[in-house]
Amino acid sequence: MAMKRRGGVRQRQRGQGAAEGDLKDLVTRMLIQLGENPKRNGLLKTPERVEKALRFMTQGYKQNLDHLLNEALFPLEYDEMVIVKDIDFFSLCEHHLLPFFGRCHVGYLPRKKVVGLSKIPRIVDMFSRRLQVQERLTVQIAEAIQEKLHPEGVGVVVEARHLCMMMRGVEKQNTLAVTSSMLGAFRTQQQTRVEFLKLIRRGGAGDPD
Ligand SMILES: [Zn+2]
Repeated sequence: MAMKRRGGVRQRQRGQGAAEGDLKDLVTRMLIQLGENPKRNGLLKTPERVEKALRFMTQGYKQNLDHLLNEALFPLEYDEMVIVKDIDFFSLCEHHLLPFFGRCHVGYLPRKKVVGLSKIPRIVDMFSRRLQVQERLTVQIAEAIQEKLHPEGVGVVVEARHLCMMMRGVEKQNTLAVTSSMLGAFRTQQQTRVEFLKLIRRGGAGDPD
């Protein structure tokens, strides 16, 4: 009987239809488990706030690429590299539900099709506002651009700090984790890759830092 009940709870929480408020109750229970009194003044509204924050930070699950890029793809004869760099992002590591955050740099070599520049940070947001590991986040951004734009190539570099490393465990406060995903020409042509890496380097062209 205990097993049956557990399975039921798990299934309900996994489903898209989990009722708002379930999360709030879980936060209340978590506060109690942490030795807190959820009825004290400062915590009264905390479960509600945590639920709201978590739903915001994971809203990427409810977005999809086609909808996001709707009418933002257009034909253009432009065959130089397009780069959007220093895109701030915030994500949650799926191992600890703690934030990891930093900057993402995206470049691609168009093949007769480009995407509105403002859409690239939106793609980064969509994938980062989910439970993630940095490596997968990096690859998903690159593959999304590859799939929708069919460019000559795509490069994505993500630099991030992980609170799960900084606040606990190894406590390496200054460690920056860097991941990259190179597709097409960015993988096969060293010159393209080098140009991309040079252009995104901090202190590079046009960077005030
Ligand atoms: Zn973690």
